[in-house]
Amino acid sequence: MNDIIDEEGMHYEGMCIRPPSEAYSILLQVTLGCSHNKCSFCGTYKDKRFTIKDDQIILSDILFASKVMKRQDKAFLMDGDALIIPQKRLMWILDRINEHLPWVKRVGAYANAKSIKMKTPDELVQLRENGLGILYYGVETGDDELRKRITKGSDAKTCIAMGRKLKEAGINLSVTVLLGIAGKEGSLKHAKATGELLSAMDPDFVGALTVMIIPGTPLYEDFTSGHFELPDQRGLLTELREMITHTHLSRGLFYSNHASNYLPVKARLPRGKQDALDLIDRALRGDVGLRPEWMRAL
Ligand code: SF4
Repeated sequence: MNDIIDEEGMHYEGMCIRPPSEAYSILLQVTLGCSHNKCSFCGTYKDKRFTIKDDQIILSDILFASKVMKRQDKAFLMDGDALIIPQKRLMWILDRINEHLPWVKRVGAYANAKSIKMKTPDELVQLRENGLGILYYGVETGDDELRKRITKGSDAKTCIAMGRKLKEAGINLSVTVLLGIAGKEGSLKHAKATGELLSAMDPDFVGALTVMIIPGTPLYEDFTSGHFELPDQRGLLTELREMITHTHLSRGLFYSNHASNYLPVKARLPRGKQDALDLIDRALRGDVGLRPEWMRAL
């Protein structure tokens, strides 16, 4: 097997992203792009046609990692939604990770409604037992009208069912929601509906990001033609406040510490809700400094 190790390193192709909490993980690119690739705000994989990478390339990367990444005890499967890989192949990848990177304690990946739907509850349990410990699911909003407009590809009801399916399989669920995606007008409706979706789904982690306008996306077209108006800083803070108000988790972490946000909030719900709301209120009064524009990034 060792003769296929590529001494030059990992076979990364194109733009590669991972959640902030996977910054120190072994990043294994097992797919290219995203099988959905239609969300109106997302430019991440526009240049990639969705494909599952060749087994030999994946194995080569795992073997390379086994030589040089002995201190990293988490692995993350890129790109967009590795969960969509057919079960046998995905189990094979996890087997190889277990075999060659035995110090890895948790494997994570992105998921979407389509990829979760394609797995049976038993298959998800098998994946969890083989090391898949966390899935990151971009739900963006609970507002069905808005979900259609941004071509999210599923409604809020399906989204809730898919999230619950992961949780029932014992896989940790981290979801992202998108501040500002409803524009100025729909902001509070989006915030309330998203809080309600989160309450029904009850994920372990919620990460709130602020939408960035990416050239080349349909949202960018709407923005430049004046059909989409981004809420200002105050509007985004009010939206975040409304969302947290309507979010009732049994036990979860709600955070907005992503670099795209103006105000980092980290609240352990339900206990920390009031503190988070108080912090936002102080920021709205101008008593707390916000992240300057030049420091914001995707
Ligand atoms: S599902 Fe995620 S990666 Fe795919 S297009 Fe939508 S936001 Fe982008």
